[in-house]
Amino acid sequence: MSLYERFEDAFMPNYGVPPLALARGKGSTVWDVEGRQYLDFVGGIAVDSLGHGHPALVEAVSRQVATLAHTSNLYLHEPEVLLAEKLLELLKQPAKVFFANSGTEANECAYKLALKYGKATGRSYFVAAENGFHGRTMGALSLTGKKAIREQFGPFPVEVRFVPYGDADALKQAVTEDCIAVFLEPTQGEAGVVPPPEGYFGAAREICTAAGALLVADEIQSAIGRTGHWFAHQAEGVVPDVLTLAKGLGGGLPIGACVGFGPAATLFDKGDHGSTFGGNPVSCAAALAVLANVDPAEAAAKGALLRAGLEAVKHPLLKGVRGRGLWLALVLEEPVSGKVQQAAQDAGFLVNALQPDAVRLAPPLVVTAEEIQALVDALPSILTEAAK
Ligand SMILES: *Cc1c(COP(=O)(O)O)cnc(C)c1O
Repeated sequence: MSLYERFEDAFMPNYGVPPLALARGKGSTVWDVEGRQYLDFVGGIAVDSLGHGHPALVEAVSRQVATLAHTSNLYLHEPEVLLAEKLLELLKQPAKVFFANSGTEANECAYKLALKYGKATGRSYFVAAENGFHGRTMGALSLTGKKAIREQFGPFPVEVRFVPYGDADALKQAVTEDCIAVFLEPTQGEAGVVPPPEGYFGAAREICTAAGALLVADEIQSAIGRTGHWFAHQAEGVVPDVLTLAKGLGGGLPIGACVGFGPAATLFDKGDHGSTFGGNPVSCAAALAVLANVDPAEAAAKGALLRAGLEAVKHPLLKGVRGRGLWLALVLEEPVSGKVQQAAQDAGFLVNALQPDAVRLAPPLVVTAEEIQALVDALPSILTEAAK
């Protein structure tokens, strides 16, 4: 039996059977179980910041797992302190950190933090954006503005009002003095790598401040250099009340973080939240290696190169390119992203059919100019193949 058939027999059907079984990787290249080689422009969904098998990541993780793999939160360890300090240094604001294991858990922490604030101030509902994605556990799912994955699991404990993303007037209407918090992605990821109009995030900051609601920036996909800045909100000149991180932070090791700024840093009392594995030494060592080796300016330069190359491709199926930094979507004239993904795979490139008309590119931040050029050169024939 093939690995695919064995997968289908052993796993719940929630993912379907993925189209490819990967065996190993090096830099921005991966190999499947048959030994075929691909350039990886998915990067584990914007997770593999340093690519595959980066020597600094391998060294840090190997050393840490051999030294001390786990302590639980009953004991502290140096890697978690170093990592929290490093994040605070990069954030350049008074803040405090909680470590979780994933994106959705980082958002659960933000959700509970906000609930504490809401109870203390007598507020009753959240606001989030249509088509936004915040995770699959119940709190984060309740904030996720995608009917298909949300509604069958409701009702949810706290009301969430959804507004069209990018519309500051609609946001202003929705955020009253009864609103606990607004959860927003600085650029929507799963919705199709959709940046908002200029000034939207700053407007959200002003609206939240005026109403006394917390602004929660979900940067689980947008942070750690992906947009050409350490954190996307820094490019907007906006400081949120709460920030959530995950994907690119661990470079492939599972870690999430929830950061509270100013008064939000100390909303939890002792005993209010916790995680057995969150911030474990191995994941913290990995994240420290990531932060020591990511260069946001380099990601910005490579993103500009990729974007310019893609924009120069003239093809009837390609409507345009959108996104930020090394985080782009090919926007298609027809809803055939699945065929583009398959044609790319056949040509030796991994790309992600994110929406019917949008293909996500989120390569490792260490992708080279030659690798970028290889995709740009191959794109016209990939699109022609997909259009057949
Ligand atoms: C991926 C993602 C999440 C969920 O992260 P998981 O680690 O899959 O739980 C939440 N918010 C955003 C913006 C994401 O991109």
